[in-house]
Amino acid sequence: MTVKKIYAVGDEIFTECGKCKSEMHHIVTAMKDDEVKKVMCKGCNTTHLYRGKKKKAKATDAAGPKKVKRRSSKKDWGKLTAEMVEEEFVAYDMRHDFSEQRGIKHNKFGNGVITKVLGDTQLEVVFKDSIKILVQNYEMN
Ligand SMILES: [Zn+2]
Repeated sequence: MTVKKIYAVGDEIFTECGKCKSEMHHIVTAMKDDEVKKVMCKGCNTTHLYRGKKKKAKATDAAGPKKVKRRSSKKDWGKLTAEMVEEEFVAYDMRHDFSEQRGIKHNKFGNGVITKVLGDTQLEVVFKDSIKILVQNYEMN
């Protein structure tokens, strides 16, 4: 059975000092119930909150960048291609990732404009005469 030492104001406590960047002898200067609240470092004479045990890594930013981008769904071919140059139409290949592309060149349907990225594996592509759902990131087995 381990007995938790209860400190009192004025007691010495060996704990981490943020300023000294190491474990230092401190004097307890404030208590809350049975918990040490504040300590004064004997090394740098700074009073700071008692850190207790080192805390593990902070909660990481969960909101990572989202890969799927929303695109406007304007289906007017003239408007869609008005500002596009031939170089923006890249050869379509179902094994490639076109999420970051605007236009594709399909060997059957011709130039197409990607209007929606449907998850990781599908694209909504507007061609001059039709709208197609094309596969991307297709994995050959
Ligand atoms: Zn210190």
